[in-house]
Amino acid sequence: MAEEKKIPYKIYLTEEEMPKAWYNLRADMKVKPAPLLNPGTGKPLTAEELAPIFCEELVKQELDNDTKFVDIPQEILDFYKMFRPSPLVRAYCLEEKLQTPAKIYYKFEGNNTSGSHKLNSAIAQAYYAKKQGLKGVTTETGAGQWGTALSMACAYLGLDCKVYMVKVSYEQKPFRREVMRTYGASVVPSPSETTEVGRKILAEHPGTTGSLGCAISEAVEVATKNPGYRYVLGSVLNQVLLHQSVIGLETKAALDKYGIKPDIIIGCAGGGSNLGGLIAPFMGEKLRGEADYRIIAVEPASCPSFTRGTFAYDFCDTGMICPLAKMYTLGSSFIPSANHAGGLRFHGMSSTLSQLYHDGYMEAVSVEQTDVFEAAEFFARTEGILPAPESSHAIRAAINEAKKCKETGEEKTIVFGLTGTGYFDLVAYQKYNDGEMSDYIPSDEEIAASVAKLPKVEG
Ligand SMILES: *Cc1c(COP(=O)(O)O)cnc(C)c1O
Repeated sequence: MAEEKKIPYKIYLTEEEMPKAWYNLRADMKVKPAPLLNPGTGKPLTAEELAPIFCEELVKQELDNDTKFVDIPQEILDFYKMFRPSPLVRAYCLEEKLQTPAKIYYKFEGNNTSGSHKLNSAIAQAYYAKKQGLKGVTTETGAGQWGTALSMACAYLGLDCKVYMVKVSYEQKPFRREVMRTYGASVVPSPSETTEVGRKILAEHPGTTGSLGCAISEAVEVATKNPGYRYVLGSVLNQVLLHQSVIGLETKAALDKYGIKPDIIIGCAGGGSNLGGLIAPFMGEKLRGEADYRIIAVEPASCPSFTRGTFAYDFCDTGMICPLAKMYTLGSSFIPSANHAGGLRFHGMSSTLSQLYHDGYMEAVSVEQTDVFEAAEFFARTEGILPAPESSHAIRAAINEAKKCKETGEEKTIVFGLTGTGYFDLVAYQKYNDGEMSDYIPSDEEIAASVAKLPKVEG
């Protein structure tokens, strides 16, 4: 395709060109994602059942499979303007270094203090909590990006923010914790003595360093027991994908400005929120039969939900208190190997993306962590940005595709999501630099053992 205009290194949108509404991909899906089920009754969860846990407006968004566009409230648009639009970068330096005929673009979401795309949904969730007149919100955080993003959003709106941080991260990532405290959040290492479930876990497993599942259980307990509080979650849920559609809408608007049609769209996949957001408008075109794209989810070989998981109902948390979601899962009792440093450790995957993958609308690949860090360093040295390990899964796959183009001589246009920066992941980088990082791939038996424990549910 002849390039009519010279594409700048960074394509920005003006404030006027920024999206004014989120796009709800589910509205264009012929086969809708399966509903969340009440683990007690096995029946789809109703708005009434979800109301004690989540904010009213967010429950509506969670259950709404039909409304195509949801207006972004003015207050959220104003907040977005502090760090959005995020740049769409033409990776000229990377193309040059790879000597590839491919044209590579990345959407960089790391330009805010939280260092990732999670702020896009954090501000939305905090806004609806504030609008409902709540005092505050509770959540869990593992690596800390979500907790940081939520702290920033709550500080802006004057909401209380209680973060349960997996104890091992709390101790190993004191700087992350201090960023959250600087934004006014209270950060409690989980499991803690502050909740019933925390005390129970501590009694049963003295000295445990905690897990995400346990932190979720504590955060949910605090939200449901304290009047004026609700629980919020940073990925996996439909509402989070809705908010993250701002990434894809901006990307599409920036590409459209220069008449660019991508061939391949790539994103890393943990719970699926950045990928779901990035691909939303492109997948919409694909579902409506207006365009075709190769869409690739990239996951760690050590936690391969899409590529080796089972499409079934499962718990979203290790503590088995959360609703059941139908998704590609390794089983909620699957614990990724401790040697896995690169994030994306969730055992399941967004129901929306799971359904699309099941129906053949997207592909998935898994990559090993030493290959991921090799790509991360190559990228840092070439494009200048120090990428988050999570984001580097997408970098790895994009470089692999660009190398294929070099072999075949095809001038494909590749777009990938660069979800964040890696300043708080330097222990992992250190391991890699010292040659102490290894790869771990779970055996079929290991996966089969946790899949065998899936809850028995029809559907
Ligand atoms: C949380 C996070 C991810 C993975 O989460 P998704 O919901 O799959 O997007 C990826 N990259 C960064 C930088 C993150 O903080």
